[in-house]
Amino acid sequence: MPRSLDAATQQALAARLRFYRDLGLTEFYRRPFDPAQFDHLPESQPEEPVSLSSLSLGANDARLDSGLDSGLDAGLAAALAAEPEQGTAAPQILQETNAIPPAIQRRPTISAPPLVSNLIAPAEREAALRVIREDIGDCTRCALHKGRNKIVFADGNANARLMFVGEGPGADEDAQGLPFVGRAGQLLNNMIAAMGLKREEVYIANVVKCRPPGNRTPEPEEANTCSPFLFRQIDVVRPEVLVALGATAATYLLGQRQPLAGLRGRVHSLRGSRLIVTYHPAYLLRDPRQKKEAWADLQIAMKELGLKAPGKV
Ligand code: URA
Repeated sequence: MPRSLDAATQQALAARLRFYRDLGLTEFYRRPFDPAQFDHLPESQPEEPVSLSSLSLGANDARLDSGLDSGLDAGLAAALAAEPEQGTAAPQILQETNAIPPAIQRRPTISAPPLVSNLIAPAEREAALRVIREDIGDCTRCALHKGRNKIVFADGNANARLMFVGEGPGADEDAQGLPFVGRAGQLLNNMIAAMGLKREEVYIANVVKCRPPGNRTPEPEEANTCSPFLFRQIDVVRPEVLVALGATAATYLLGQRQPLAGLRGRVHSLRGSRLIVTYHPAYLLRDPRQKKEAWADLQIAMKELGLKAPGKV
């Protein structure tokens, strides 16, 4: 039996829908509505992990930002100063990581699925990630599949406290099926080591899982088709801290079309994790002077994780 809404509720609902439409969220009616979903709207993140079998859908994240100082530490920036060893392939060329890629500017980019409200138990995260990989299958959902050799799903620890998100695979990644294994990957490895971590301890994924031709920026259709899988990966790993590498990752994670400069230097909130935005390693290879700034961003991430740089007391 359909229930009618009173005028005040209808107005509030209409205002809320207008707000979501302004954000670019328009696809509410594709899913059959299940009133039981509303039983699970979380007020806050649950503390206790639960098993995979008891997953339920909850509310979208609030996307709140909070301010934070990002003091530079020139001494520690030297840890990042060393160039990575020469790889076999040229670094991925990013047009201008401090600007919004033109392809992104053309239309709204938010495609985040509802946040899974419950944590997946650590022992079940590997299996949950395998399910996502199986759902991707031999994907032909967007045009990128035509030029790819290997789907690049992710690398690293399903129980990582720290997750990095890049833009999309380059030539080396496409050949090996692993993210960040070329020259930019070597610099990312140095960045991870400078934070006092090993690559195996973190989780690394990309906005798109197939290589864009010529390493171009992914088109909105491509990124919006693929990013729901990324959001599912984030929801499984539920890292304490996410680091968005470059403007494409930041834009599709946050759903905000802002220059990188406006997003760096503070802690954002995303799907139960804290998000830090920094430069893409490929950009740092092209402009090493920005490594100091990137190190300042990583120090914010380290502070959030309670980490001290190696050798610092
Ligand atoms: N650049 C990216 O954004 N991702 C990779 O995996 C490699 C290079």
